[in-house]
Amino acid sequence: MMLSEQVQARSWEEQQLLDDRRYRAQLAYLLASSPFYRRKLGEAGVESPEDAGGLERIAALPLTEKRELKATVTPEEPIGAHLCAPMSEIVRIYSTSGTTGAPSFIPLTASDLENWVTGSARSYAASGIRAGERLVSTYTAGPFVAGAALAGFDRLGACHVPVGTGNTERLLAVIERLAPDAVVLTPSYAAYAVEAAEDRGFDLAGSSVRRVLVAGEPGGGEQAFRASLQAGWGAIVTEAMGIGDIGPSLFGECEQQAGMHLCARDFVHAELIDPSAGEPVPMRDGAEGELVLTHLQHRAAPLLRFRTRDHVRVWTSVCACGRTAPRIRCVGRTDDMLIVRGVNVFPSAVREVVGSFTPSVSGQIRVRPRDAGVRQNPPLPVAVELGRGVGEEPALAGAIAERLRAALVVQAEVELVPWGSFERSDYKSSLIDRTRR
Ligand SMILES: [Zn+2]
Repeated sequence: MMLSEQVQARSWEEQQLLDDRRYRAQLAYLLASSPFYRRKLGEAGVESPEDAGGLERIAALPLTEKRELKATVTPEEPIGAHLCAPMSEIVRIYSTSGTTGAPSFIPLTASDLENWVTGSARSYAASGIRAGERLVSTYTAGPFVAGAALAGFDRLGACHVPVGTGNTERLLAVIERLAPDAVVLTPSYAAYAVEAAEDRGFDLAGSSVRRVLVAGEPGGGEQAFRASLQAGWGAIVTEAMGIGDIGPSLFGECEQQAGMHLCARDFVHAELIDPSAGEPVPMRDGAEGELVLTHLQHRAAPLLRFRTRDHVRVWTSVCACGRTAPRIRCVGRTDDMLIVRGVNVFPSAVREVVGSFTPSVSGQIRVRPRDAGVRQNPPLPVAVELGRGVGEEPALAGAIAERLRAALVVQAEVELVPWGSFERSDYKSSLIDRTRR
């Protein structure tokens, strides 16, 4: 089912025209209402909308970093100088889930919230959620932007059963007793639940669940990992992705499983950049770069060319589902990237290669950088957990190192560790362990 079909099946040319009109209006609004952007754009020589021009010149404007927004927060301006709308028009304020420092606040007007829910509903509909279906969500999302995305389920007419994070007994009980059609969780928790069900003799693959929607961290699109989730759940796995400061579930994957569609069309404009130089990378089939997003009709605190820190691969060809919006797969967080002898290495990409050795391996890895910082001298230490019930396999470490070298051009030192060595997470997993340095 395609929600707002006229939007999602629109031609690129027509979309470009509409986005251009909205972008010009958004820029005029920023210059009129945002002290942050008036200063930032002024420093770049843009005093008026005419100076900026249209969407075809967007790459000439400065990028926005999260830390710049945080730097403008004061006791008098708790949200920051990028707040455009009067506080009397703000209907909700979310916090970022950042684990370090004070939270930053994400304000929304009524129309912002409406657009978020619309985009999220499109994303979940793309993943196959229909009216009348029952689905279980496991996010404790109250304070965070993901909370708004959950309203997308109501919008679709689905029956939403929230069970929260960290209560696997409750999750399995709900699956058994309420027979849901779908579950929504992080990829880490989806994997954890498969193992937890095995431990309890619970037949997850034989349950009512036919769709597993994963989001919240990269990994749900990694081939071997996805295959193991699909086998464990006996269900189709699709991904969704949002960006706290821009919106939740902006991207959603359809049942073709060919990458996440930009479902927040009309609300958000997407670009790619080279993360080191900041230069634009043309959006074409197979292109890779850091995702940069611009609000097109946001009111409370719109952002221009916001650096998401997510490194993505893009496809621009029309999908078999009929959606024309670009599709992405998140390769990893730019912040997690290591550089080994000049080669960019994402821990999630290492996990993807290692995953092809399943069932000899569990799919769990930890990259253990020897050097502080991003640059690493080879070989890069990678600890790989063996599969359940798998003993010593003398040739395995060498074979994994060989495949890593062939696929990622990285020299790795592979250490095999017994099944269960790495702590499982019912939320998100860190693939980098710097404690062993
Ligand atoms: Zn599609």
